Amino acid sequence: MRKDRDFTESIWTASAHSKGYPRLSNNLEVDVAIIGGGITGISAAAMLTAKGKNVVVLEAHSIGKGSTGYSTGNLYATVGERLSSIDSKHGEEKLFQVVDSRMFAINFIQEQVNKHSIDCEFQRIPWHLFTTSASKEKDEEVEKEFDAAHRANLEAINSLPYIFPFPNVSKITIIDHQAQINPYKYVLGLADSLDPEKCQIFEHTKVLNVEDGTPCVVHTNQGIVKADQVIMATHSPKGIYEVHTEMEAYREFALAAKIKGTLPLEGIYWHVNDSYQYSIRPYSNEDGNFLIIIGEPYLVGTVNNTEECLLKVEQYLYEHFDVESIVYRWAAQNYKSADGLPYIGTSPLQSNVFIATGFKADGLVYGTLAASIITDSIFGIENDWTKLYNPKRFTPLATAGQFFKENANVITSLIKDYFFYGEVDKLKEIKVGEGKTLKLDDEKIAAYRDENNKLHIVSSVCTHLGCIVHFNNAEKSWDCPCHGSRFTIDGEVIEGPAYKNLAKPKDTPS
Ligand SMILES: Cc1cc2nc3c(=O)[nH]c(=O)nc-3n(C[C@H](O)[C@H](O)[C@H](O)COP(=O)(O)OP(=O)(O)OC[C@H]3O[C@@H](n4cnc5c(N)ncnc54)[C@H](O)[C@@H]3O)c2cc1C
Repeated sequence: MRKDRDFTESIWTASAHSKGYPRLSNNLEVDVAIIGGGITGISAAAMLTAKGKNVVVLEAHSIGKGSTGYSTGNLYATVGERLSSIDSKHGEEKLFQVVDSRMFAINFIQEQVNKHSIDCEFQRIPWHLFTTSASKEKDEEVEKEFDAAHRANLEAINSLPYIFPFPNVSKITIIDHQAQINPYKYVLGLADSLDPEKCQIFEHTKVLNVEDGTPCVVHTNQGIVKADQVIMATHSPKGIYEVHTEMEAYREFALAAKIKGTLPLEGIYWHVNDSYQYSIRPYSNEDGNFLIIIGEPYLVGTVNNTEECLLKVEQYLYEHFDVESIVYRWAAQNYKSADGLPYIGTSPLQSNVFIATGFKADGLVYGTLAASIITDSIFGIENDWTKLYNPKRFTPLATAGQFFKENANVITSLIKDYFFYGEVDKLKEIKVGEGKTLKLDDEKIAAYRDENNKLHIVSSVCTHLGCIVHFNNAEKSWDCPCHGSRFTIDGEVIEGPAYKNLAKPKDTPS
């Protein structure tokens, strides 16, 4: 059993083991270089090699240990944004396309599981969206989803056909034949099934820069890779891209708790409550009966006390279930696009570098779909959904509100952090376990004092676009409010669009 609150392992990553892959040790030339070994990158590798391409996967850390291995493992044709929202923003034709494309991706995953006998606990289960809130607005939200799902030809029902694990349900939408997997085992299994003659995988190989061109040149900490095309399967593309200005980065906490008594029926349960929604997944393995609970999303770098968000998820768990113990706690990031659809394809100023981002918390399905759309594009095929998800699309009405909100957030962060800079004046004001920003000899500093009273000092200026990072007290990281880059207490990039680590201050005091 793991240490309390170390956030490093999810229930999936703690219970399965990768065979591991080497580091890149020489320069390479391939057809396609894929950056990132999550579900998007590994699915793209599977699709491209199946069509005869020679590919390399360059993974900064370990395969499947990005957001994929820290997700819930739910596969559904609906979306967190709500189908009703897609309908009102984009119209019924696009609603159908979203559902069709997502069903295609779920079926693709099932085919891979069957074809390669991937032991990832794939099963078909029902998806539920329900509310127990007394609010008319929440009732309408669930009713609208039933209506949109029904119109999109999903077999939706709006009554309770069996004993439901939640009392006082006022409205419900159920869609059968959705699916669940162990996402980490799926990605490891899919990676394992790839022909090593056609696909080389390198771990602990961090991409430092990508030059678009013919060929593209990918610079890593281990060598250079030249490729006809590059796929940025890094969740949020690394470097500077227009889509960053159209996305909000959210983090969410997850718990896997052992439950006394019998578990609810297997399925996906989205409980719409007064604030947001909790996602609940019953899951059993040789260690016992678990409930996985996800909730309390917050904008990265904007919440002073992230511990509080975690505590709210714990409170929800204890209020609704008979809990034996919380075994795993983790958090993961998602990127919400301005118009509710992901960005898949090439960016406006690039021709051979593909991006796949803006999946919100629906990216096991969207990531698989992105792999398919990009594979087709590389072969010169415009598939049924290329236009819908094209990053160059122009959807001003659907985008405007979110676009202004995202950029207002960036501008507010910049103004607030630059004009009212510094949470403390002196290092000695920082208590054990605290991280604070301050000015030291005119340098903008982020300092954390660990349990041994040792200070960890780095520059507080994010290396992506220069915003000021904020301390995440639950996970002990420095997080950027502008586009979601995150750094360790010693400044190393954890995730997000930044390539470079936080700088070390010139005269670091001991
Ligand atoms: C709490 C939570 C629960 C979720 N649950 C679900 C769910 O049930 N169903 C669903 O469909 N979606 C879910 N999602 C969303 C889903 O997890 C993600 O959208 C999806 O995993 C994204 O996959 P990816 O391959 O694009 O990115 P990732 O899995 O993050 O992979 C990106 C990889 O790129 C690597 N990388 C980054 N930078 C570099 C670099 N410089 N060089 C080399 N490699 C690099 C990273 O190390 C990482 O391994 C959830 C999200 C959250 C936050």
